[in-house]
This record gives sequence, structure tokens and C-alpha cells, in this order.
Amino acid sequence: MKSREYEIAIVGAGPAGLTAALYAGRALKRTVLLEAGIPGGELLNTETIEDYPGFASITGPDLASKMTEHALTFGAEMIPARVTSISVQPDGTKRISVEDGEPYFAKAVILTAGGQPRKLDVPGELEYAGRGVSYCAVCDGAFFKGEHLAVIGGGDAALEEAGFLTRYASRVTLIHRRRDFRAQPVLVERARTNPKLDFVMDSVVDEITGDGQRVEGLRLRHLPGDEVSALPVGGVFIFIGFLPNSGLLSMHADHDSQGYYLTDSNMQTSVPGVYAAGDVRAQLTRQVTTAVGDATTAAMAATKLVELPLEVPSQS
Ligand code: NAP
Repeated sequence: MKSREYEIAIVGAGPAGLTAALYAGRALKRTVLLEAGIPGGELLNTETIEDYPGFASITGPDLASKMTEHALTFGAEMIPARVTSISVQPDGTKRISVEDGEPYFAKAVILTAGGQPRKLDVPGELEYAGRGVSYCAVCDGAFFKGEHLAVIGGGDAALEEAGFLTRYASRVTLIHRRRDFRAQPVLVERARTNPKLDFVMDSVVDEITGDGQRVEGLRLRHLPGDEVSALPVGGVFIFIGFLPNSGLLSMHADHDSQGYYLTDSNMQTSVPGVYAAGDVRAQLTRQVTTAVGDATTAAMAATKLVELPLEVPSQS
């Protein structure tokens, strides 16, 4: 095999990619794990993990570094590379193009590229990104000591990260567009009993305002009457969901209305030899535990597939 030819290529080194690398390496398959940034994926944006069996409480970055070290012990190679597209050659081999370099080739590909935080898409959001607008409490929370902050969203991430931000902020106001939370009840209960957290429900952000340099507040609209109000805050943390990185395949692969890949029970997408696991895959919930479980299945299925001879089309 040439230096850029592998049996299994894995795209993205979050929990799913790291688990797939562990299993593919342990199955003695020539495996490459391509990752543009620091391994760990969304773990790096999570302060504390309390629902990963065996670890009653561990920080996201600690779990990421343990998973990375473990993933590479069985021989998978991790290479820094930003994948730009994946195509399938006539013999079924996958061609993985990367920024600034020659392509990689593999018999099977496991897509574990996670996604990006969804944007609110309101005036001021782009203008003040990194200047009071953030999508990562762990990364940026400490810059807001003693300030009043706003958190937008009503899912697990918003409730969890709002609690984390109360360590630094004088007060955190959570703004949600409905009366009911999407988040797990245990997180809602914890947030409700946090004395530094208050809630503005049935309300949306119309604009993030500032002085041209930094965020100074929010213009809110309260439903259903469309009454408006201003909320002065020093920063706003947006946790309104996730957009999957599912645009890498150059051919069609079946996906749901939000772009998450649909797979069979072996985690294979509608493209033979292309698997998906973790936050790029359509599923009931996106937990670290589901990511590692599905990645295990994907790696085992990919291992079986690459042990079969490639089907070369007949010349008739
Ligand atoms: P999510 O569950 O999709 O929740 C997104 C929240 O943002 C919803 O409350 C939604 O409101 C709101 N929202 C969406 N678009 C909006 C908009 N344009 N304006 C205002 N609000 C908007 O996303 P998430 O919290 O990032 O979680 C993603 C996945 O990761 C979930 O499966 C979650 O379980 C998992 N996760 C788990 C943990 C944990 O278990 N500890 C921690 C973090 C994340 P509606 O409710 O009205 O739709």
C-alpha cells in the first residue's frame, strides 16, 4: 500500500472518530484519522461531563485527552488535515481530498466530523462575534467575570452552560423562545435552583446591540404580543443547536430535513462503504455515549467490509 492509501479513513476526531480509530486500529486495519483542529470535538466545549459511565464527573478536555491517547495506542495514525471533499472511484475506493495536500485513499470512510453551532441570524451577531458574542462557555466564560450575561436556548447545552457561566458572571439571564424547555428535567431543575440564574421565557432576540466595539445588550421581543424590551448585558452565549458537517460527500447521501445522515443499523449511509457516527448522524439524542457506541458499530462494519475484495465492474 502507498503512503496515502489506507483501509479505513476516519474524518473528524471527536468522541466518535476517536472511538472508530481505536476499534479500526485494534482490528489491525491500516487506519488514518484526519482532523483539522485539536482532537476532542464538542468535548472541548463542555465543562463537566457527568453522564459518561465510569466517570462520575470529568472535564470535557480531560476526557478528550484520555480518549485521544487511548485511540492511538492500537496503531491508527492521526494526521492534521482539513478534508474538503470525498468521492468514490469506479472501483469503490474513496478519494478524500484535503486542503493543502495530496488526497488520501481508503476502502471505507467513517464520517465523524460533528458540526457547527447554529447561528441566531440576528443583527449584531456577526459584528460582535468574539467581542461579547460566544458559542462556547468553557472557552470564553472566564472573560466575563462579574458581568451580567445572557444565554439563548432551551436545550441541554443552554441549561448546562448557563449554570457553568454563573461561576464567573454576576448574573445570567436565560432567554428561551417557548414556555417549555427541551432540556432534560434534571438540568432544568438544577438551573431553577441556581440563585444567579433567571429566565425570560416566550421571548426572542431581535438584535444584539453594542457600542461598535463590544456587546452592550439585547433587544428582546416577547411573544405572543410582540412587546419589545432592552436587556443590558456584557455578553451573550448562544446555544440553539447544531448544524451537522454533512457537506463533504461529493455525491448524494440520504439525510433528514436538517442535513443529518440517515444510516442503516451498521451506521452505513446510502453510499456503500461510507459510514457515519456521532453528531453527523440522525438520531434521537446526541450524547457522548451514543457517539462512541455508534462509532464502534461503524468501525466493526467497516472492518468487515474492507476484508472483502473490491468489486471491479466487468468490462462487457
Ligand atoms: P437542541 O437540543 O437542539 O436545543 C436547541 C434549543 O435552542 C431549543 O430549545 C430550541 O428551541 C432553541 N432554538 C433553536 N433555534 C432557535 C432560534 N433560532 N432562536 C431561538 N431559540 C432557538 O440543541 P443543544 O442543546 O445544543 O443539544 C444538541 C444535542 O446535544 C442534544 O441531543 C442534546 O441532548 C445533546 N447535549 C447533551 C448534553 C448532556 O446530556 N449533558 C449537553 C449538551 C448537549 P425549541 O425548543 O423551541 O425548539
